[in-house]
Amino acid sequence: MQETESIPGYGEQERELTTDVSKCPSCGANLVFSPEEQALKCNHCDTVLSFQKARTEEQDFSKLLETQNAWSDETTVYVCNNCGAKEIVPRESIARHCPFCGTTNVVETQELSGLKPNAVVPFRITKENAVERFKAWVKKKIFAPREFKRSARPETVDGAYNPAFTYDANTFTFYQGRLGRYKTVTTRVNGKTTTRRVLEYFNIHGTYSSFFDDVLIQASGAVPQKTLDKLQPFDTNNAQEYSQNYMHGFTANQYTKDGIKCWEEARGAIGRMIKEAVLRKYTYDVVVNFDARTEYSDVKFKYVLLPLYVGHCTWHKKLYNFFVNGFNGKIHGKTPLSPLRVILAAALGAAVLGGIIAVVVLFVL
Ligand SMILES: [Zn+2]
Ligand SMILES: [Zn+2]
Repeated sequence: MQETESIPGYGEQERELTTDVSKCPSCGANLVFSPEEQALKCNHCDTVLSFQKARTEEQDFSKLLETQNAWSDETTVYVCNNCGAKEIVPRESIARHCPFCGTTNVVETQELSGLKPNAVVPFRITKENAVERFKAWVKKKIFAPREFKRSARPETVDGAYNPAFTYDANTFTFYQGRLGRYKTVTTRVNGKTTTRRVLEYFNIHGTYSSFFDDVLIQASGAVPQKTLDKLQPFDTNNAQEYSQNYMHGFTANQYTKDGIKCWEEARGAIGRMIKEAVLRKYTYDVVVNFDARTEYSDVKFKYVLLPLYVGHCTWHKKLYNFFVNGFNGKIHGKTPLSPLRVILAAALGAAVLGGIIAVVVLFVL
């Protein structure tokens, strides 16, 4: 087991400053983290306070199994009575509404906020910009009702960090398997030539080694992994060491999967990537079986907060959530579908297909 070394230049002074600067020194208003300034800002008197930042280092995997820093001494958990979402807010602030459904029916719970993150990808996109991106995105949704595209305004947009684990690992894999490849066989029977396709089987075995960097696994049930994958990348390689300062003006989604559970998922993802990479070396048509045994070494992790804007719109009393990557502005979410537009598209598709068939019939037959 390896000791994680302390990061030089990020000592006691910075930590003291961290706890002291939730209020503006000039006017006493609450400070917020400003994505434009990458510093704390008072929206009341425009005072900007920069703070020391440090690039975060990966932690040795063995650290995951040790007693971890609890996050509960500086944060409080709120639960939404309407949709059940759980939000972590800094101790000195209160949750006013739920970022997922907008209701103000949120209450403080006794639940603990769990493991303290060791890394954060700071917001770079402002909330105003996230709203602009939403409007542009909705306009391009061809299956959304025209009226929705014209008038959709998000009712709430909140910056809510999403917890995730990233893993680095060296892998060494022994594999074996059996693949099949089609072969055309020509035979002459009674002076007549016939050709047919037969499957030819062959065995494979070997070793494969590869390094995986920052495999990202979602740790909260609030945002689906598929959504997170669509919003990537988050530049986790340049994540900053976590500081409470990044939380001012933002919340974080409660995590529902711990680092051990997420590592299982990461191994699953790495296993699929290894299988793909190995199979790419061969020419084959079918995989009969494939077995791999992978040894992992130098496993490192980061428990990182990813910047996400969460917004919602209601349309005919139904809620539609959308998410904007707070680092690169990528957007993903659901919009209502116009039944007429979907039917028209299907009809058009059928017409195009019908046209192709007609052309084939005309020219070939
Ligand atoms: Zn101020
Ligand atoms: Zn809610």
